Amino acid sequence: MIKNHSCIYCGTENDLSESDIIPDALTNARITNRNVCRIEHNNKFSDLFEGEVIESLALISNELDVKSSKGKNYAKYESTVRIAGVDYDVSMSSELELFSGRVLKSADKKHLMSSFEQVSKIEKDPSKVKAIDINNIVVEKKVKINLEIYFKVAIFRLAAKIAFEWYCAKNNVSGYHDDFSNIISFITTGAGNNPVSIIQSEELYRFIGNQANLGSHCLFAFQDSQSRISVVVYLFGIVMYRVIVSDNIPEFCTNNLLYQELCTDSSRKEIIKSSLEDVERTYIECITNKGNFSPIKLPNGITCMVPMQNQSIDILLYIFIGNAVSYFKGINAETTTPNETIIAILLKNITQIMDASLLHKKSIKRFVKEHFKDGHEPIRLNPNSSNKKETFMFYILMVIGKSNIKTINDCTLQQLAKETFSRYPKDEFIISNELEKKLKNELLNTPEYPSLLEQGAYVIKQWDNYPLV
Ligand SMILES: [Zn+2]
Repeated sequence: MIKNHSCIYCGTENDLSESDIIPDALTNARITNRNVCRIEHNNKFSDLFEGEVIESLALISNELDVKSSKGKNYAKYESTVRIAGVDYDVSMSSELELFSGRVLKSADKKHLMSSFEQVSKIEKDPSKVKAIDINNIVVEKKVKINLEIYFKVAIFRLAAKIAFEWYCAKNNVSGYHDDFSNIISFITTGAGNNPVSIIQSEELYRFIGNQANLGSHCLFAFQDSQSRISVVVYLFGIVMYRVIVSDNIPEFCTNNLLYQELCTDSSRKEIIKSSLEDVERTYIECITNKGNFSPIKLPNGITCMVPMQNQSIDILLYIFIGNAVSYFKGINAETTTPNETIIAILLKNITQIMDASLLHKKSIKRFVKEHFKDGHEPIRLNPNSSNKKETFMFYILMVIGKSNIKTINDCTLQQLAKETFSRYPKDEFIISNELEKKLKNELLNTPEYPSLLEQGAYVIKQWDNYPLV
């Protein structure tokens, strides 16, 4: 007999909907739970806590090129921009908006800045209008990093919701169950025992951070040392929440060792197993099966066995998950309030995102779309200003332009980047001040760089149309 579907929060069978486990505005890789009723336990959560978190994390989602599939634009965030010595407070989603003709009022309300046309309409006396050449001025952007949000009930409720709906989805849970009564009451009302805490072990952040891709969300479910179901929700590679989903293993749930990574380029990785022992057994079987390895002779005469490319499981991922979960079970460093340790961890992770450029189809297409509009002026780089991501992207476009390739795909893009930045093993590039200077000098010292950039941009524009409208 097929069991009827019903809401995991209240048990109703009426008007069920597909809930985005992680709000759509916070991920490019959607995961859903179908057993959630539409109004009370899906739509209402937006107003109760999701909206506040989405708004507060706008800067991060914007930096990572993550946006809602429903919305047209990337999220706006507040910043102060200093242009030719004057501060302007603006809410923006891209720096290019500053010069797109919108009127900016300075923080001291004494200056207006816009296109010459716009300003002339507002200020009739031409002697009061001063022209600035945006290609040669220094634009400084200051953004406030809001750390408060990471300690608010809103984000705890969101972490609990993600953990609960994800664990239920992977176990095909349907209907209300008492095993989850505490977490349900916390998600729906904010009351009850708070099942959420923030992990504050620097070492653990380093360990997971080395494995996961920059800006990914990672989820881990396991049976903890007190036999409870714990889910770790690692948001954007910034903060890890540990959520107690249930005080015992529900008898109707068989998948109690789960892992999922959701990447900003919308790819994902997943492991579904019954227990940690099950994971360990799987990779030990794989390691001890000689058929999974092929011998390679090293120059010094030693033969080394390396895993075959076409294995059915990603053995390194299994080993990583085995180690990560053992680590989670053993640590006891958690908090719910700010302190020096956790603040240092958060700032380090956020800075890393701000200083990194993610190079994949979506990010480079977005860059080209914003910077190479039809009929735009030739690109002239401003030697005085600093924008690490912009410099990096322009540099990659010049490399593409120089390479004379006519079409591009993920593979050729990564190949070109790797040849250029051969020191970097991953698809993400942390740009130091020094590296930025080097890249910019190289661009400026290439006389034909404006036309190379156009060629590079043209190749990217031809890349089959990603839904980026
Ligand atoms: Zn419901």
